[in-house]
Amino acid sequence: MSFESLGLVPTLLRALAEQGYAEPTPIQAAAIPEVLAGHDLLAAAQTGTGKTAAFALPLLQRLIDAPAATPRRPRVLILTPTRELAAQIDDNLRAYAKYLHVRSAVIFGGVGMGPQINALRRGVDVVIATPGRLIDHMQQRNIELSGVDVLVLDEADRMLDMGFLPALKRILTAVPKQRQTLLFSATFAAPIKALAMQFMRQPREVSV
Ligand code: AMP
Repeated sequence: MSFESLGLVPTLLRALAEQGYAEPTPIQAAAIPEVLAGHDLLAAAQTGTGKTAAFALPLLQRLIDAPAATPRRPRVLILTPTRELAAQIDDNLRAYAKYLHVRSAVIFGGVGMGPQINALRRGVDVVIATPGRLIDHMQQRNIELSGVDVLVLDEADRMLDMGFLPALKRILTAVPKQRQTLLFSATFAAPIKALAMQFMRQPREVSV
């Protein structure tokens, strides 16, 4: 199995080679073709399995395929429970997008709003956010979510454990109905299944 055979474009393959990724991990091999095909995805995967690249690579490729609106507004929204995870996802995304013209912004609490507002105003393609701070920006109308066509819920079980369910529901109702939704979780307890039932459309399921 190679990244090339999964259908990734040469600009991504080059960045992956530079990262030293020789071949896809099992979650990447299972998830990448489904995401590229536009399906919703329910993925059971722990940290360390390569799940970040499993969603980031096909999302970047979908961004190349669809031209950005002017002015730029977020087309991909990635929600994750902690600032550390948000920063890590952004680092990975930037490495994979080295040969693409993709702009991202990271949004999390505990720091000033100002730099985040400026980043959003400059125009971004991808927003990586923790739910609480994203709600703050939504309330202040700093962020326009009407252009989001892919939503990722990363570590969904941890987001629920941290009490983010009300925030998630608000965000899920604020993004367009016509979108692709990807949900990654280590476990699939009843509340996660309920969330998936309510907010996803015929998701493909992968587990590793
Ligand atoms: P994650 O599960 O997304 O936190 O990824 C765990 C670690 O594996 C990260 O340091 C990634 O850079 C690395 N990684 C992800 N995919 C691959 C791959 N296909 N080959 C080698 N390393 C990888």
